[in-house]
Amino acid sequence: MDHSAPKATPPVADATENPDDWRANLREGIRTSAEIDRAPLTAEELEALAPAAKAFKTRAPRHYLNLVDWNDPEDPIRRQVIPAPQELEFAEDEREDPIGDAAYSPVPRLTHRYPDRVLLYPTYHCSLYCRFCFRKESLNDVDQGYSQRALDPALDYIAAHTELREVILTGGDPLMLRDDHLEYLRGRLEAIPHLRLLRLHTRVPVALPQRVTAGAVEALRGRLMVAIVTHFNHPREITPEAADACRRIRESGFMLLNQCVLMRGVNDDAATLRELFQELVYTLGAKPYYLHHCDLTRGIRHFRTSIDKGLELMEQLRGNISGLCQPTYVLDLPGGHGKIPLGPSYVRARDEHRWTFGDYQGGEHGYDEILPEEDA
Ligand SMILES: *Cc1c(COP(=O)(O)O)cnc(C)c1O
Ligand code: SF4
Repeated sequence: MDHSAPKATPPVADATENPDDWRANLREGIRTSAEIDRAPLTAEELEALAPAAKAFKTRAPRHYLNLVDWNDPEDPIRRQVIPAPQELEFAEDEREDPIGDAAYSPVPRLTHRYPDRVLLYPTYHCSLYCRFCFRKESLNDVDQGYSQRALDPALDYIAAHTELREVILTGGDPLMLRDDHLEYLRGRLEAIPHLRLLRLHTRVPVALPQRVTAGAVEALRGRLMVAIVTHFNHPREITPEAADACRRIRESGFMLLNQCVLMRGVNDDAATLRELFQELVYTLGAKPYYLHHCDLTRGIRHFRTSIDKGLELMEQLRGNISGLCQPTYVLDLPGGHGKIPLGPSYVRARDEHRWTFGDYQGGEHGYDEILPEEDA
């Protein structure tokens, strides 16, 4: 994989005085189709731009735009951020609520699907609107930022459900909240005695790493164990700025993990995935957690791969790279039935307690199980 191709001039000049000013970075990105027009788009992209940006929100900070190789119409970073004509083509079984979040939402801004953990949506705004996002329709529908009042019913629900141990802030992107709002929310959650863990699902370390300030990290630190789950999809997203952001997170004693989406033309080859998973660990200290199969989101057919392809890629990684670099390949079932690990399975045959397993080099091996005495 050659990541050293020369880049054309970025669409937006770097005019900030302070490179760490994340608000300026966001301002100098793009938000509207008129602004995105300044980027050197292809004729096809230009034609799709206005209708696609009208259908689904569009935004990218300067940091992320600068990662695009404008000479390559198929650039994997570009595919994730620039609207494509295919976004407006909906396949028959694609749906607005691809994983059934609404079916498990007892109060606004909360999804409770599993016994011990809930999703809480403190904002529906993001620094970057990813073209493949499975929640892009709810980002459109709700389109609300943070407000204490909007979150009160969800916080009351969490306090009343003593079986809960973990709250996952997602959205939207929770790191779009101001530091004082993060601190307030963390304070409200840590006052609920049955909670143990605060998790954030965020793309900010990828798209706007400058936002991961010492203040933002400090705002999250308290009684609860904190896990930050980032969302890097391609090795070229792992920049020095992202590495700084991740170091600040780890130095605060938080767990750091990554989930990514398997996408055609972005990361659906073994070399790219290998580099991504290794650099997540070696450069960022982030454990690859999930590799998601594409959800039934509308208008993302151009990103889809088959499950067979995903399983084949996972098989090429197993054994060849460190176990620390291996994510679990998962599918989120439609209708809210949850995530299931897709494999691959290494069980080739089974006869009672005589198993046959495949190994990572393609060999096969019989294995006679020795049972505990009471089952023999
Ligand atoms: C994905 C998801 C979670 C988190 O699942 P983990 O397997 O713990 O990462 C929790 N709630 C909902 C509704 C989810 O979709
Ligand atoms: S940052 Fe996350 S929630 Fe926001 S558009 Fe991207 S994938 Fe969706």
